[in-house]
Amino acid sequence: MNQLFAHNALLPDGWARDVLIAWDVDGTLTEVRPGASAVDIPSVDYVLPGMVNLHSHAFQRALGGLTEHAGAAPDSFWTWRDLMYRFAATITPEQVQAIAAQVFVECLRHGYTALCEFHYLHHELDGAPYARPAEMAERVAAAAQESGIGLTLLPVLYSHAGFGAQPLKPEQQRFRGDMHAVLERVDALAPLRSNQLEVGAAPHSLRAAAIDEVRELVREMPPARPLHIHIAEQQAEVDQCLAFTGQRPVDYLLSHIDVDARWCLVHATHLTISETARLAASGAVAGLCPTTEANLGDGLFPLGDYIAAGGLFGIGSDSHVSQSPVEELRWLEYGQRLAGQRRNVAATPTTPDVAAFLWQSALRGGALATGRPVGALAPGKRADLLVLDADHVNLGGVAASDVLGRFLFSGNDNLVRDVLAGGRWVVKNGVHIAQNAVAHRYKLAIHQLREVSR
Ligand SMILES: [Zn+2]
Repeated sequence: MNQLFAHNALLPDGWARDVLIAWDVDGTLTEVRPGASAVDIPSVDYVLPGMVNLHSHAFQRALGGLTEHAGAAPDSFWTWRDLMYRFAATITPEQVQAIAAQVFVECLRHGYTALCEFHYLHHELDGAPYARPAEMAERVAAAAQESGIGLTLLPVLYSHAGFGAQPLKPEQQRFRGDMHAVLERVDALAPLRSNQLEVGAAPHSLRAAAIDEVRELVREMPPARPLHIHIAEQQAEVDQCLAFTGQRPVDYLLSHIDVDARWCLVHATHLTISETARLAASGAVAGLCPTTEANLGDGLFPLGDYIAAGGLFGIGSDSHVSQSPVEELRWLEYGQRLAGQRRNVAATPTTPDVAAFLWQSALRGGALATGRPVGALAPGKRADLLVLDADHVNLGGVAASDVLGRFLFSGNDNLVRDVLAGGRWVVKNGVHIAQNAVAHRYKLAIHQLREVSR
């Protein structure tokens, strides 16, 4: 039966009691009705909409925890990137699929039901195109299909090694892709578009895509598709942009491109007060990835000012040092507390509850960034939801209004018990339906990669 009765469910305007939730065979919600009665329907205590992960490079999951050794010179994003390039130089399509399936299973188990894959691994090991132009992206799509996670595939425009149209380096040849190549991949992936999958595009960054190329890509893309870009992640990138254009990255992008709600600006870490206000006013989503940004030593996004300006944001796991929305949202708030020596930053006078503000805001912004009908328990949205473990000591005896606070800010146990993704129960009692088979293929891929990189 495609129905569930929730004693408490988080709806767009807050918690509701006794909610009947129903979905059709296509995995779309058909009814979300508070005040219902539970007759012959499975009932649970706490239901949340599944979270959106708006920024992922799935293959980087395999690097997690392996880059934490100090070098002779001070380490930075750029020394990490050298390691990532070495790793990306050998990976095969089969390995990409195995790693992506593993990370998608982990994301689902921790509460993400939708994900945006910022996909820049396009070519053969020697930089030659695959026979199928979207081979690598199709592997990621197959992994998403197996896991059940909703996917927004973003083939990446990657033309240059740096500002001023610097030619790509040998280690960047696998990423190479001008506007025509991106549009070819967008076309090749079109038959996969469904309730589960959308296809957008992503200029990699202002370093890797000249502003005219970005403009041309936006003009040529089918309408209403999501557009993502890495922006202002590192101070060095800001300095290079200033030297080359006379403007900082966010100012430069907003001054030259009609940035609107289709856009997700990933990281946007280094902002002036006026850029913060401009970004908020654009209607674009800031894509924040706190655990990766911390791991790479990027810096802190000015969240308080951005919220005060009414800006939209969502979260992403990016390099996958974490696959948990709890950890991502917790550190989004904690970074601000540490930097500002104050508490309870992510809140507004109308939503003073920090956990509720974080979860609902990340759902709204994240949903926009996917270009898909997700992020809320409402008819017409994809049937993506989480059932929390009401038997866990952290949730026992608490009021519904305190559940999100307990979920995000107390302890490290995973409180996600069951996950419905696209109308299919893919996680039951904390275990994903394909967990063992996926883990087996992942370990095999890691073993192969270790042999090659030896
Ligand atoms: Zn990224």
